[in-house]
Amino acid sequence: MEKAITEPVSRDLPNSARLWLARQQSTVRPFLIGVVIAGLVNALAFICLAGLLATVIQRTLIDGQALSAQSGPAIGLIVAVAVRAISQAAQERFGQLASARVRQRVRSELLDEWAVQGPVQLAGRASATLANHWVEQVEALDGYFARYLPQQWLALLVPLTILAVVFWLDWLAALFLLIAAPLIPLFMALIGMSAERLSQQHVHEAGRLAGHFLDRVRSLTSLQLFGQVEQASAGVTHAAERYRAVTMRTLRVAFLSSAVLEFFASVAIAVVAMYIGFGLLGYIDFGPSPQLTLFSGLFVLLLAPEFFQPLRNLAQHYHDRAAALGAADALVGLSPAVDSEQTYRRVVSMSPRTDHVTVDRVKVGYSGRSAVLEDVSFSISRGDVVALVGPSGSGKSTLLSCLAGFIQPQAGHITLFGQAPGAEPVAWLGQRPFLIKGSWADNLRLIAPDADIAAMLTAVEAVGLKDVVAAQPHGLATPLGEGGRGLSGGQAQRLALARVWLIDAELVLLDEPTASLDPNSEAEVIEALLALARSGRTILIATHHPAIVAIANRTLRLHAGRLVDE
Ligand code: ADP
Ligand code: MG
Repeated sequence: MEKAITEPVSRDLPNSARLWLARQQSTVRPFLIGVVIAGLVNALAFICLAGLLATVIQRTLIDGQALSAQSGPAIGLIVAVAVRAISQAAQERFGQLASARVRQRVRSELLDEWAVQGPVQLAGRASATLANHWVEQVEALDGYFARYLPQQWLALLVPLTILAVVFWLDWLAALFLLIAAPLIPLFMALIGMSAERLSQQHVHEAGRLAGHFLDRVRSLTSLQLFGQVEQASAGVTHAAERYRAVTMRTLRVAFLSSAVLEFFASVAIAVVAMYIGFGLLGYIDFGPSPQLTLFSGLFVLLLAPEFFQPLRNLAQHYHDRAAALGAADALVGLSPAVDSEQTYRRVVSMSPRTDHVTVDRVKVGYSGRSAVLEDVSFSISRGDVVALVGPSGSGKSTLLSCLAGFIQPQAGHITLFGQAPGAEPVAWLGQRPFLIKGSWADNLRLIAPDADIAAMLTAVEAVGLKDVVAAQPHGLATPLGEGGRGLSGGQAQRLALARVWLIDAELVLLDEPTASLDPNSEAEVIEALLALARSGRTILIATHHPAIVAIANRTLRLHAGRLVDE
């Protein structure tokens, strides 16, 4: 009970996470370059804006020109503002595109990987973890690709551009900026290091608190029986208190770091402003200061805050990087070691079609166990209805998983009408039907998204559920609970069986479809199976039930992983 649900986040993320991020980055490089270019255009437009503004003010106040005589700079100002707006939008848009591409790609990689692993291997992983990877971890990559990565470049290029302009105007002012600039990244890095450690601790504590609390709530009955409620609530209080302390420390560092950043930026800008002020008043006789004009002074002053802005933005997006690294660490193990597409294509090999399902000297073993199937060979013809019988644990489900392509045999060869398993859809029904929360129609459309009402009614009729549907208040649109709540076991199993009628899978694999049913429901399902058997499909049913064996025109008997007789 004491064990925390989450493992502590490792402090030194392995290089593989960084490499994985770099690999993702290389796929969206054009978009990232687009963001950087748009950001640069934005900065150049600002420089023009500041220059034009300083020109107008210089001409009006010092040179005594009328405002109306300055239509040229005025038009320039409007153009600069428009360019700025457009480039900002473009920057945002390219960033979103890059991030969306990456997330889409990662999700499709995950899907491919899961498809290759198949339900048998995936059964070893908690579905909550899979869902968390699919949704949250992938989403955590957003800020990194949309903002942080391009900002890394902009934080270098934009200050350099501004510095060049300021240098041209007044090299002493540029020198002030140049001295102040590295201080910011330096202090950010110092604070950032401890912030990173703290934010990992924060994530860790949050996970621990959640696990702790969930454990206590789950075992509330036992706690009450043993009179441990007081201690348990004290434990939760203690864990929450620790979480509070870490949160406060994280916040303190976050506030401190932005305060340091603001402080240095303000000091640097103030120094530049002071220099320009005294220079304009003629108090400074050093270097370029006697040549300062209102134009050059104002121009420099307007540019100074913009010089620090990209660095501040970078600091703001710094946590995006930490989040993405954390997510990458979780996702990197899931990305296929071998190219998943390759694995998939290997399965989808083109070969001439035949009329047989052949299993040739197939051997299967789960890791750390002796072989579950040994030297199994048989062939069935199109349209055969085959019963697969044998004691529990003899390998029936394993054989069906091989035929479905969920498991790769260690030796031997399987072809389904000339194709490799997994190349074409097969229909599968296990002991418990897979029904989702949704209407009858939703459940049927799960595997045949384009099925129309008429086809669904035909399918429902074929499994003997027509009267049941007719008795529902909204027919096929009547909602069902999760796992088919609201239906009897036999009805749920027949609803799942109705899906087989909606797809044109040639091979139908049924794994003990009546095993968890009462006699009445069993009879209903067997009735539906009989109709399926007459439909001309090739059907392989693992079963113990004599009535189902009677439907079949062939029987394969497995014993301890070997085919004993027919
Ligand atoms: P049946 O369906 O005939 O009852 P199975 O094919 O489910 O038999 O199982 C055959 C043998 O393989 C059993 O001894 C079972 O313990 C083992 N087995 C099944 N699935 C796994 C698995 N995922 N990991 C390890 N062993 C397994
Ligand atoms: Mg089984």
